[in-house]
Amino acid sequence: MQIIQINKSTRPPEIIYETAQKMFGVDFNKGATFTVGNTIHSKEFPISDDLLEHEQVHVIQQTNYDGGWQAWWDRYFEDPYFRYVQELEAYQKQYKYYCSKHKDRNDRAKFLHIISTHLTTIYGLQAIGLSLKQAKDRIQLK
Ligand SMILES: [Zn+2]
Repeated sequence: MQIIQINKSTRPPEIIYETAQKMFGVDFNKGATFTVGNTIHSKEFPISDDLLEHEQVHVIQQTNYDGGWQAWWDRYFEDPYFRYVQELEAYQKQYKYYCSKHKDRNDRAKFLHIISTHLTTIYGLQAIGLSLKQAKDRIQLK
């Protein structure tokens, strides 16, 4: 089991934060959450359980990646398809967790819509032509 730290006051390392801000327009001060190695940087406290599921996937991905979190983040910024695969895995896990806690179909549909919208808009995945419908279909796969 991976030991995870939650850091609610410190921004992620500048090199990552600056690039993410430029590429995706995300703002740590407005609630964007960043996982760097085994540390989750978030202003949100407590972090919601489903988001924690999502970020834990990134902890495992970065820990297991050849070259560690630096190399993972470099590839994440450079390669939209890699970014898609990494985020899809995290959103699948997050959605599965959400469904284990929410039995109402409308709640699930609303949640799926929100996270699918995030997946298609925030991460610059227009580059790989990901539609909202595809995102919804794929997030539900696992
Ligand atoms: Zn993510």
